[in-house]
Formats: sequence, C-alpha cells, structure tokens
Amino acid sequence: MTPWGVYAHVPWCRVRCPYCAFDIVPRERPDEDAWLLGVLGDLQRWRPAFTGDPATLYIGGGTPSRLSADTLLGLVETVGAPDVTVEANPEDLEPEWLEALVAGGVSRVSLGVQSTVPRFARRLGRAHVPAGPAIERLRGSGLDSWSVDLIFGLPGQTLADLVADLEALLAHEPPHVSLYGLTIEPGTGFARLEARGREMEPDADVWRSMYDHLVERLEAAGLHRYEVSNFARNGHRSAHNALYWQGAPYLAVGPGAHGFAPDGRRWVNASWAGWRRGEEPEIERPDPEQAVLDALISGMRGVEGLPFAALGRHRIDPVVLGQLQSAGLLEVDGWRMALAHDGFPVADAVIRALAQAVRPT
Ligand code: SF4
Repeated sequence: MTPWGVYAHVPWCRVRCPYCAFDIVPRERPDEDAWLLGVLGDLQRWRPAFTGDPATLYIGGGTPSRLSADTLLGLVETVGAPDVTVEANPEDLEPEWLEALVAGGVSRVSLGVQSTVPRFARRLGRAHVPAGPAIERLRGSGLDSWSVDLIFGLPGQTLADLVADLEALLAHEPPHVSLYGLTIEPGTGFARLEARGREMEPDADVWRSMYDHLVERLEAAGLHRYEVSNFARNGHRSAHNALYWQGAPYLAVGPGAHGFAPDGRRWVNASWAGWRRGEEPEIERPDPEQAVLDALISGMRGVEGLPFAALGRHRIDPVVLGQLQSAGLLEVDGWRMALAHDGFPVADAVIRALAQAVRPT
C-alpha cells in the first residue's frame, strides 16, 4: 500500500510579511471553531478515496501557532498519524502551548525564524526579535525533532551578514534546517519596493556564493542536504515532505489547500471566505503529460532523484539528458536521474529543461 499524508492549512497570520504571496488571512482573529469543523468535514469527504491509515499529518500555513493547542490537537487526534508536524512562528511559542502539543502527540515543530539578526528579521516583517529564546524552547521541549527556516539573499544582506546569521542559528544545534533564497513574488510589498527602484535581490554571483557557503557550512555541521532547500541530521528528515517528493498522495484539508488522491485526482480548496461558506473545491484529473510534469517537479528536488519508471509512457530526450550531464548539472544512471552537486543551486532551470524534453515513448 502506498504511504500517504494529511496536510491541513491554517490561513491566519498576524500581518502579511512583505515577501509573502501565500493564500492567507492577515490581521483577523482566527475563527477556530469554524476552521476545525471545516477541516473535519474535508477529511470526511476525501477519506474514502484513501486506503489504510495516514503516515503523516502536517499542519501548515499561514501561521498554525495562532490556533490554540486544543484546536490543533482536535485534528491531531482525529487523524491519528504517528508523525505530526506543526508550523509555528517564534512570537507564538508559549511554553504551555508547546508542552500541550508534545503531550498531545505532535512529534515535530517547524519554526519560521527566517533571520536571527533583528535588523533583517524586521525587514522581513517578522515581529519576533530576537528568535533565540523560542529556538531554545524547542530544543528543550522533548519533541522527536524540530526545524528552523532561514531566508537568504535579503535586501542589503552581505555574505558576512549571512555567515553571522547562520552561525547564530547553528549555535542552537538544530536537527533540521530549511533554506529559502528570497524571491520577489508579484503583488507583495517587496515587489512594490522593487517597482519603485529599490534593489531587492543580490546579483547572481553573490547569491551563488551565499548558497555555496550555506551548503558547505551545514554539511560541516552534520546537516546533510536531502532536498534542494532541506538539510537534516541523520534520522531527522521530514517524513511528510518526503512523501511529496516521492509523488505519494496527500489528503489536503482547510482553505486554499491542494490535495492529490491515489486515483490521480488533484483538488484545490477555495480560499477562506468561500471555503467557510462550503464552496466546492476545484477538482481535476491531470492528463498523462501533466502527470509526468508533476512527477518531474516533485521528484527531481530530492537527492535520490527520479526513477525513469515514474515517467510511465514517456522518456526524456537523450540529447538533453546528455547536455545536462556534460554541464555537470545532472547525474544519470541506468534507472534514474538526479540533480548533480552543481544542479542544486539551479534546480528550477534544470527541471524546466527536463520538462521541455519530455517525449512519448
Ligand atoms: S507568517 Fe508565513 S504565511 Fe504568514 S504572511 Fe508571513 S510568510 Fe506568509
């Protein structure tokens, strides 16, 4: 039986961060009862499409730590998955809330630190200054695992700034780190600043030296890259995210959540206002070409890469495979392809090139 996971989306955030284009509800008090009722309804609707029990539950957002422990544990108990992650922001990490989560079966918390340097944290619109005490609370919480997010390539950030930021983070000995290079998404506060002429992203060489430093330093600290953006000590990989990268199905609940059923259907729930009124999700069954693109996009991000068998009745043009291999961006063997060391920093471009080279067999 294929393992599968449950993803629950919590839409609320205190404010919208200036780089964020997610489907969220800023500046509103969470309506916890309506959320829990709605996600339990979504669960009931899609559960018959999945067999066996879920391997994982991931409560993401938005900011799940804006919900009470009782509300979150109401879902944790109903889903009954052995591996449960909750995303949190440092300013919400009250000791009682965290203790209740650990006692209630949450095994992992992913903390949106983004930067330990107050100047950059403020620039990212994050209220928490400094994040250190929250990270230490996680470290001593008795969770099976925990993770911290770091964003790099910030406006005005030098390589020396980033080195200091990473060292401050590593001093807390995190078992898992997720790294994101800042991208300027349309419609965000950063995009508006950029439109007014502010330089928002570092040039390509600075970006690359930042990425290379991060990878090297994390590896030296025992945190091994297992996906483009994710680094873990042994035994601390995210089991839920690994399901996405293996192309496994996931049952998504909550406003704006995207799901993938074992029969190939994909669905997107309505945003908060429509979802709470009971608006139907958009459901589609991707054609074989789209399914191959989906397999490439999710499967090529992990260090294990993608078996050619996952392409079904399609193959990749061997000329393009050869070019990517000679450029040192791709590793190819008899049964699978994977990003090479130099392919990781340009993963999106490599995946785009592969997607354009898909041919029917
Ligand atoms: S906390 Fe996360 S989801 Fe919420 S606005 Fe900021 S980046 Fe977006």
